[in-house]
Amino acid sequence: MNLLKSKALFEEAKQFIPGGVNSPVRAFRSVSVNPPFIERGQGSKLYDVDGNTYIDYVGSWGPLILGHTHPQVVEALKMAIERGTSYGAPTELETEVAKIVCEAVPSVEMVRMVNSGTEATMSALRLARGYTGKNMIVKFEGNYHGHSDSLLIKAGSGALTHGVPDSPGVPADIARNTITAQYNDIEGMKQIFEVHGHDIAGVIIEPIAGNMGVVPATQEYMNFLREITKAHESLLIFDEVMTGFRVSFHGAQSLYNICPDLTCFGKIIGGGLPVGAYGGKREIMAQMSPAGPIYQAGTLSGNPLAMTAGFTTLKILRDHPEIYVDLEEKSKLLAEGLQKNAAQLGVNASFNRVGSMLCMFFTDRQVVDYASALASDTKKFGIYFEEMLKAGVYLAPSQFEAAFVSAAHSKEDILFTIEASYQALKKVI
Ligand code: PMP
Repeated sequence: MNLLKSKALFEEAKQFIPGGVNSPVRAFRSVSVNPPFIERGQGSKLYDVDGNTYIDYVGSWGPLILGHTHPQVVEALKMAIERGTSYGAPTELETEVAKIVCEAVPSVEMVRMVNSGTEATMSALRLARGYTGKNMIVKFEGNYHGHSDSLLIKAGSGALTHGVPDSPGVPADIARNTITAQYNDIEGMKQIFEVHGHDIAGVIIEPIAGNMGVVPATQEYMNFLREITKAHESLLIFDEVMTGFRVSFHGAQSLYNICPDLTCFGKIIGGGLPVGAYGGKREIMAQMSPAGPIYQAGTLSGNPLAMTAGFTTLKILRDHPEIYVDLEEKSKLLAEGLQKNAAQLGVNASFNRVGSMLCMFFTDRQVVDYASALASDTKKFGIYFEEMLKAGVYLAPSQFEAAFVSAAHSKEDILFTIEASYQALKKVI
């Protein structure tokens, strides 16, 4: 595989952009390959500047459930752009998008659009604090909610200690108000509520985590979280930035049959343009300015281009439920194929999949939380990743990410990927 032009572009980018990228994971730091620079995407494929073609399982990190340059999305955007890119004034389309979200996700009665997942979770925390009058937030080890101060926090030295900043620049005073819990650990959460329950504004969780590889919460754990938060008048906040409209049109919450107080969205809701959103019960959302006293705003929030891409994507998903059936079939085929390869070759691997989000961990342990995810052999992952890239399969360049199947992947793509993985896994053993 030739990546010479990409390499030169990367070196040039590093002169002007920190690390050469506008978001760290794109620099491929946890693997030993230079990132291909992308020229275009179409359907299930990415094309780089060096003339390589890849079957893409990153899908811009989740938004592209319909694949790249879906004709209806492109057409709608072309028409929208002729009418202007942003007005900073209300449009009918914003209500249409809000309606489709509220109809899809029954726990969401009102929704506010923002521009990224980070903004969505950050604003949801402000709302949770403003609404409850409490200060502390509980998050989970291995869950990622974007890079706002309150959420860029890792666990302190014991389960019950206050959080510590996960990046220079996050004040310790802010970190103190975030507690980091273990995923799927009922006893640990009980202890946290025993000690801090009176001051916990909300618990924010990826119901199906996608940022430590794919790790679903158990049904039992979700039921428990719903009860304990309710009992302490703390809000349960689902971060469905990745899972929303991905694992089901009605979100992960429909799979668990749990009604969170607030839900954050991003990725698919913007159809590939920058969008985030947070929503929930009317009574809570009505606290947001200008209806209520809690402030949050955005120059480009709800702009017509982002709303057009999001609305078109959501409408296609709503009107074609067979897309989710097809995603499930293709993803199952892929996961079973990978699993069979690993078993045949004697590679220690464990698999988690929910719908079109899947992950192969290089460990023989079942992965249920961050600690078990970390048991994965990242060296083996690195070799596997590189071999897959060479074969023309573009995976996320880290063991701790999800692979996404899109509506644009063909059965041939999947079968090709399974065969490529067999060859790649041979290099791992
Ligand atoms: N929440 C989750 C679950 C995410 O996966 C991400 C991004 N990967 C975010 C929040 C942050 O979204 P953004 O990158 O759009 O700020």
